[in-house]
Amino acid sequence: MNILTAAPYYLQITTVLLLGLTLGSFVNVCIYRLPKNESIIAPRSHCQSCNKNIPIWDNIPILSYLILKGKCRQCDTSISIIYPIVEVSAALLLLAGFIKFGVSIKFSILCVIGPTLLTIAIIDIKHKIIPDMITLPGIIFGIVAGSYLFGVKESLVGLISGGGIFLLVSEVYYRVRGRVGMGGGDIKFIAAVGALLGTKNVFLIIFLSAFMGSVVGLIGLVVKKVNTTTQVPFGPFLAAGTLIVYFSGEDIIKIYMASIVGGY
Ligand SMILES: [Zn+2]
Repeated sequence: MNILTAAPYYLQITTVLLLGLTLGSFVNVCIYRLPKNESIIAPRSHCQSCNKNIPIWDNIPILSYLILKGKCRQCDTSISIIYPIVEVSAALLLLAGFIKFGVSIKFSILCVIGPTLLTIAIIDIKHKIIPDMITLPGIIFGIVAGSYLFGVKESLVGLISGGGIFLLVSEVYYRVRGRVGMGGGDIKFIAAVGALLGTKNVFLIIFLSAFMGSVVGLIGLVVKKVNTTTQVPFGPFLAAGTLIVYFSGEDIIKIYMASIVGGY
C-alpha cells in the first residue's frame, strides 16, 4: 500500500492528470529548446516573441493559456495552440496508462516514455530530426528498464535487432536511391525501443509503424499533399506504434498467432 493507492479513486485520477499536465508542460520546453541545442533546465521560460520571462502564474498548464486567451501578457503575441494540445495529450496518455496498468512498474515506465515519445513525434514533424539528447539517454533507459522487465540478454538482443534492421534498411535505401532515406535518429530511436520492449515487440512496432506510415503516405499522395520525393518523417509513426504495442502488444501477438493457427 502506498500513498497513491490509499487515496480515493478520484484523487488518484486527479493526481495522475496533474502529473500528466506538468510533464506535458516539460515536453513543450523540450520541443522548443532541444532542436536549438538550448538547455532544458535554465534559463526560465520566456516569451518567444518579446523574450520577457514568463512568471510562474502565467505558466500553469492549460489554465494560463485560457486565462491569457492564448496571448503573451506583455506583448500580446499569440501563443501556439500546440502548447495546450501537448499538455492535454500527455495528461490523457498518462490517464489511459493509469487505468490500464494501475500503480505499477509499467505505469512508471509509461510516465517516462509517454512524454518522451510525444516529444520525439513533434520534433520530428517540425524539424525532421530526432535529437541524440533524447535517443542516447533513451538507449540507456531502454537497457536498464528492459533488463528489469525481460532480463539483460533479451534487452540487448532487442536493441541489436531493432537497430540492426533499420541500419540495414537505411544502407540498402542509400545504395538503391543514392540518398539518405532513414536518418541516424530513427536508428537510435528504434534501438532504444528494442532494448526496452524486446525483439518480438520491436518487430511488431516496425510492422505497425510501416503500415501506418504507408496508409498516411498513400492518403497524402491521393490528396496531393505529398509527392514521391517528399520526406515524410517516420518518428511519429514509430512513436505511435511503440505506444500501441506498449498498451496491447501481447493481445495483438495473441490474436495474430490465433489467426495463423486458426487458418484464416
Ligand atoms: Zn511576449
